[in-house]
Amino acid sequence: MARRPGWRAIKRHRSYTYEEAARALRTHKNTIAHWAKSRGLPVLTGGKPHIILGCDLIDFLRARKERHRVRLKPGEFYCFGCKTARRSAEGLVEALPGDTGPVNLRAICPACEQLMHRRVARARIGEFCADLSLTV
Ligand SMILES: [Zn+2]
Repeated sequence: MARRPGWRAIKRHRSYTYEEAARALRTHKNTIAHWAKSRGLPVLTGGKPHIILGCDLIDFLRARKERHRVRLKPGEFYCFGCKTARRSAEGLVEALPGDTGPVNLRAICPACEQLMHRRVARARIGEFCADLSLTV
């Protein structure tokens, strides 16, 4: 999935129609309309054109990002299948070869059995794998 411009693409002191907001965020105007109708994005006008304030849109996008963010603890991976933090199945973690820089770790999700990846700073690998069995 391509990374979309986030709230930084929106100007706080501007107002936007759905079309303008969609263009700035490179999304569809129906997405903006959906946020307004069902997700609590404030709209100034009852009819067309629907006007939303830049500051409202920024607050909405930031709150949304905050909700979606998953903080990983040491030993945890983000599973794209489950869309949440998971520990590896049976504590098994594999480190991919490489001598310098962050270490690429690989593990299997215990719930959906997808491969999960995480990069960990080499200096923190001991802390990360404290209660895992690491194979290289
Ligand atoms: Zn999973």
